[in-house]
This record gives sequence, structure tokens and C-alpha cells, in this order.
Amino acid sequence: MSIKDNLLSIKSTLPEHVTLVAVSKTKPIEALMEAYEAGQRIFGENKIQEMVQKHEIMPKDINWHMIGHVQKNKVKYMASFVSLIHGVDNLRLLEEINKQAKKHNRIIDCLLQIKIASEDSKFGMNLDDAQNLLQSELFSEFKNIQIKGVMGMATFTENQSQIKKEFQLLKQTFDTLIQLESFNFKPEIISMGMSGDYNLAIACGSTMIRVGSSIFGERNYSN
Ligand SMILES: *Cc1c(COP(=O)(O)O)cnc(C)c1O
Repeated sequence: MSIKDNLLSIKSTLPEHVTLVAVSKTKPIEALMEAYEAGQRIFGENKIQEMVQKHEIMPKDINWHMIGHVQKNKVKYMASFVSLIHGVDNLRLLEEINKQAKKHNRIIDCLLQIKIASEDSKFGMNLDDAQNLLQSELFSEFKNIQIKGVMGMATFTENQSQIKKEFQLLKQTFDTLIQLESFNFKPEIISMGMSGDYNLAIACGSTMIRVGSSIFGERNYSN
């Protein structure tokens, strides 16, 4: 199956309220262009440098999502164009995003990354951290960011019931945080689900899935 076939067959199964982010990390421009020509306009990358390079080369009507862990000192490289930052997990990072967004006279949309996996390696906040962040005085001063919801990554496991529990935890966290809606917290997105688990994620309330290998094929990190 071609990239175009993969993309169209996934899209044909998605409910209308679910947005597909095509995760193109490590893939060459030609692969992204094939998805673009099949109509895809949202691409997700996990390294800022790679996203900046692809953004420079590719058509300008693409929405670029940063789905990886973000280092504060690199926010400036993507601040002029990034359309959604999925992995925000602390107030200081948000402060830097707000500062850089202001320099470019724009508002940058972000998601709070919530730790739902049992693995130590996954980043993210718990419910308490997220509530504290959203209620902090500093946060209420950020006029150049909008928190649009939450993002989470399930444990890397075959155990479907564990993955389901973790997705349910993210949905619950979202449902609790909704009460804190404010001028810069407009919760509408639950970003969860990847190639192996996006159907389960959608059943658990996902509104945005991040799919890489099912569209572009397996990644080869040795190149
Ligand atoms: C790589 C990645 C994905 C996509 O993974 P696939 O299994 O290839 O679909 C989704 N989300 C994040 C945060 C990723 O880093």
C-alpha cells in the first residue's frame, strides 16, 4: 500500500470529530509530500530542528504540530509558525512559549501533557500539577498562549486493558480540568492514540490521534 492509500483508508474510518495528525518524524520530504498531495495538512514532528527544516521546504498551508518533549531554549526556533505544541508539562516552559509567541505577535496553542503510562520514561504532569498550573497567578498573565486540552501516551505494551485504563485516565483528567476553563484555557482537544491503539483511543474519547508508521511505514532510526 502507498502512503496515499494508507492515509485515505485510515481517514475513511475516522469519526468526524477526530483530527488526524500525520506523524512524519524521520521521514523524507518526498514521503510527506505524498501525504500532502493526498490532502493531509497536519503533520507532527518530535524534533524542533527537523520540523523547522521541513517547514522551510514544504508548502505554507501546512499546520505543524510539535509532539515531542520540548526544551525551553529551543522554543524560539518554532515560535513563528508552530500551530500546536502537544508536550507542555511545566509552567516555566509555558512562560517561554508565551514570551516567544508575544515576540511574533501571535497566540500559540498548546496541550498539557499528562502522565498516564506506568513507565518512568514518559514525561507529563498528574492532575494536581495541571490544576495548580492552570490556577497559578503566572498562568493568568499569559496572553499569548491558549491551552486547548491534554495529550497523553499510553504504556508501550500489548496489554489492551492497561492501555484502555490509561486512556480513560486521560479522559477523566480532561473532564475534571474543564471546570477551570478561562480566557487562555479552552479545553476541546484530547490528543491520544497512535498507530497501534488509535481505535481504542477514539472509543475512550480521543479527539486527536497521532499516527506515524501506519501511514508512512516503519521508521528506520539507523539511517
Ligand atoms: C512517534 C510518535 C507517534 C506516532 O507513533 P506511531 O506508532 O508510528 O503511530 C505518536 N505520538 C508521539 C508523541 C510520537 O512520538
